[in-house]
Amino acid sequence: MQLATLSNNIFIPVTDLCRNRCSYCSFRRDFDRAKIITRREALKLLVSAREAGCTEALFSLGENPWDVDGFSTLIAPIGHSDLIDYLVELCELALEQGLLPHTNAGILSDNKLAELAPYNASMGLMLETTAEVDAHKKSPGKKSNLRLAYIAKAGELKIPFTTGILVGIGESLKDRIDSLKSISRLHEIHDHIQEVIIQPLDPKPGTPMAGLSSPHISELIELVSRARTILQPSVALQVPPNLVDPLPLLRAGANDLGGLSPLTPDWINPERPWPSIVDLKHYLREFDLQERLPVYPRYVKRGWYGRKTANLIDSLGGPDGLRRK
Ligand code: SF4
Repeated sequence: MQLATLSNNIFIPVTDLCRNRCSYCSFRRDFDRAKIITRREALKLLVSAREAGCTEALFSLGENPWDVDGFSTLIAPIGHSDLIDYLVELCELALEQGLLPHTNAGILSDNKLAELAPYNASMGLMLETTAEVDAHKKSPGKKSNLRLAYIAKAGELKIPFTTGILVGIGESLKDRIDSLKSISRLHEIHDHIQEVIIQPLDPKPGTPMAGLSSPHISELIELVSRARTILQPSVALQVPPNLVDPLPLLRAGANDLGGLSPLTPDWINPERPWPSIVDLKHYLREFDLQERLPVYPRYVKRGWYGRKTANLIDSLGGPDGLRRK
């Protein structure tokens, strides 16, 4: 039976302030409505996650919020002036609660990335697309050269990395293939891409792209098949089961369902609840659905993870590198 994996996680939105304005996004807030999570709120979520048996704390935030006017006012009550220092503290809180951090903080400077990496089992950044699309006209951080350079930097630091493409934001099939080939080239050099997400656009009411349609399942099946031939066999192909029917995509070559939370919504797609793991196991019974850690077994075996996460990975991981049964 073919193996498919998922991670049992909690999704912690650190701040929704962001320097970009992507046309499909309903997560980002302007400064006057932006929030930053307090220690108390984060700890409450982490304790609930530990009690629910989760192993991953996914920290997500808008990109470079410190570039937005008013950021210092937002962070002042937290008692830090630097968001990365605060993120390190949140990662430490997660580790104390027995949860492995995986942070997706947008593009960071080399120093900030190196500061955060030791506290993370793995990290991530969606490439989204190498094409120049109208949806990114107001998003300076979505230039593909910047994103590819950041993913390469993570490779130099031997950080197991999650990236992916966003499908249906105005790019062509050729653009999708080019994006996958760019990821594959970086993996060829650094061998650090643990998974690539094929994420379909889910148009949000109230956004400039509200009138678009999600890509058809047949388009996604074709893309997963193509991706499987482009990406190295060691790179997992992830599809989000709250946005798309995973069965035909697993049959086409995907082999991971990403992080599913029993407690928190998918804050990027809050109106799309995750199915329960029990229901998925039944629906996907032709696959051997297993829980993994936020770092994949091949990187566990290699010791490629943040050094502060080592003890917890030892205790949560089984002999196969997946979650201990
Ligand atoms: S999609 Fe991400 S980068 Fe783009 S505006 Fe939203 S939070 Fe910012």
